[in-house]
Amino acid sequence: MDRATWDRVQVLLGQFVYRSHQMRYAGELIHCGHCGSPITGETKTKKNKKTGGDKQYVYYRCARYNDEDHPRIRMTEAEIDEQILALFDRMRVEDEEFRNTFREQLRRATNWDLGTETKNED
Ligand SMILES: [Zn+2]
Repeated sequence: MDRATWDRVQVLLGQFVYRSHQMRYAGELIHCGHCGSPITGETKTKKNKKTGGDKQYVYYRCARYNDEDHPRIRMTEAEIDEQILALFDRMRVEDEEFRNTFREQLRRATNWDLGTETKNED
């Protein structure tokens, strides 16, 4: 596990308050599996039809997303969280009790995030 991943886990376990304008995975923390370029965040603002207020959505995509032959993939933070959870599910931890506690806390923190995030409406 690299330092950036570990730091991310610390944040998840800390159950910090999610803020929609915050770009947790930006800052070249992760790279594109297709071309290796840094993943960058973008914020889209949409009007809430009921309240008339603005809601911000954060997406992550490859810096070369707009290249002609590049896959058109954007991900929400919740989707990246899911992938990190899957990564930890594959990790080997010797002590079963520690492993279960660790996984449960991680899942709780992530579910809490999912509850505050709206789906990609594209
Ligand atoms: Zn790419």
